[in-house]
Amino acid sequence: MSFAFHQPETSPEAVALLGSIQDSLPLAGGMTLLPTIKQRLATPTALIDLSKIAQLSSISLEGDTLVIGAMTRHVDVAESEAVRGAIPLLAVLAAGIGDPAVRNRGTIGGSVANNDPSADYPAAVLGLGATIVTDRREIAAADFFTGLFETALQPNEVILALRFPVPVAGGYAKFKSPASRYAVVGVCVVQSAGGVCLAVTGAGPGVFRVPEMEKALAASFTPAAVASIKVSAENMSSDIHADSEYRAHLITVMAKKAVAAAIG
Ligand SMILES: Cc1cc2nc3c(=O)[nH]c(=O)nc-3n(C[C@H](O)[C@H](O)[C@H](O)COP(=O)(O)OP(=O)(O)OC[C@H]3O[C@@H](n4cnc5c(N)ncnc54)[C@H](O)[C@@H]3O)c2cc1C
Repeated sequence: MSFAFHQPETSPEAVALLGSIQDSLPLAGGMTLLPTIKQRLATPTALIDLSKIAQLSSISLEGDTLVIGAMTRHVDVAESEAVRGAIPLLAVLAAGIGDPAVRNRGTIGGSVANNDPSADYPAAVLGLGATIVTDRREIAAADFFTGLFETALQPNEVILALRFPVPVAGGYAKFKSPASRYAVVGVCVVQSAGGVCLAVTGAGPGVFRVPEMEKALAASFTPAAVASIKVSAENMSSDIHADSEYRAHLITVMAKKAVAAAIG
């Protein structure tokens, strides 16, 4: 199998290439895309490598919003003083992704565009109420994750950055697969001026919120507030890592840990 390889230096150039070459795909760190191509599950005619576009690899605090460029690697988020200062849960989350090789290649934009049901970032993106900035529009997190490996992105639409509002407090806790470190269940809890948001990844076919826990935490932002709330196993995933009952149980356990991290 052969394909063309382009390395544009600006995002408009990348978007133009994607628009002009049928069946081309953007390439970030290749952590998911390259194995997918190797297995012939994707057969692009061209890869548009985003790694030479300098402004996509940036982290900045703009007032009360943390802006992270799409090509920012997990290791850079984990080690960023700006991230640690403004939204420490994001640094914790990024530091817990995969292994050093994955963290040195994988990117926030690639992770969010891929929307793996066990990926960590979708929980933080939804929990923090982030905005996904693309080459053509801004998409609210609540409208972005549409299903299993599905997002609101249109063909050839490129994520440029993610904008995270700085919360009052927030925490992330995951029960990880010991082999890949993907989340068997991951919970992100965020307290902000607008209330409490609790987002779960890994447990079902996509990231989702647990309104009953959010209500309890709005009344009392403590681990005890969620300790007795049980989530139904009905729509949970079941696989070699954990069955649906176990995943449902883990949501409560991880929610308690996430709240403890947020107030700790
Ligand atoms: C062994 C292993 C362990 C892992 N463990 C974890 C884990 O514990 N937690 C976790 O969350 N993740 C985990 N991952 C996933 C990893 O963190 C990567 O983020 C993910 O694989 C995406 O990789 P990438 O950023 O290199 O994107 P790529 O693989 O290059 O791209 C992924 C997809 O997104 C598209 N894309 C990339 N960038 C953009 C963009 N800017 N705009 C639009 N579309 C884009 C590509 O076309 C492709 O379809 C693991 C991966 C591996 C291989």
